[in-house]
Amino acid sequence: MIIECSYCEARVDAKIIAQNIDRYDPEFDPGKFRVVLLECPTCQNSLVAGQVEEGGEWDAPTRLWPSPEKYLSYDIPEIVRTSLEEAKLCFKARAYAACAVMCGRSLEGISRHHSTKSQYLAGGLKELQERGIIDGRLFEWAEELKKSRNIGAHATGEKVSKQDARDLLDFTNAICEYIFVLTEQFQKFMERRTAQLDKKLTAASIKRSFDVS
Ligand SMILES: [Zn+2]
Repeated sequence: MIIECSYCEARVDAKIIAQNIDRYDPEFDPGKFRVVLLECPTCQNSLVAGQVEEGGEWDAPTRLWPSPEKYLSYDIPEIVRTSLEEAKLCFKARAYAACAVMCGRSLEGISRHHSTKSQYLAGGLKELQERGIIDGRLFEWAEELKKSRNIGAHATGEKVSKQDARDLLDFTNAICEYIFVLTEQFQKFMERRTAQLDKKLTAASIKRSFDVS
């Protein structure tokens, strides 16, 4: 089975050691799902992959362990997601400067999505903070990302290391998740809370009016 070995950082034809197909309910599950234990032919380390059955065939395996591949939420708008996906691809291809540039472009995408007045990254970030879309800490992360983006984008002779590229990717992911996924989730959570509280208050006031009468 062809999969990327996280130890070798290369695509390998891994040997299937064991597999288990999960219980499948056609009413609820989109397709069958199997978990496969693999052995890398190069480093002999273990890998665990997951696959979904589509049209009678198993789709491309996704590495579940170690270093599971991160999925980007569809709540992240396309203008941001496209750059984030490219940043991930650049990292995988060991193009670390290009990865930093793509992380910077993801941040620009956030500014565009929120229609900041400034078209530039620096001005856009400041505006996002002033409008309360990002807080002080995220602004600080974003500022550092901007500096690394500049190292990646300009021919200065300075290099972006693998470790830095990985951190930049993690920070960019976290900023996007915070803005587009968690903030939204929290808002919905609070709406549910308020609705429940309103219900309780209404019930209590009805009870009270009955008690009085
Ligand atoms: Zn390997």
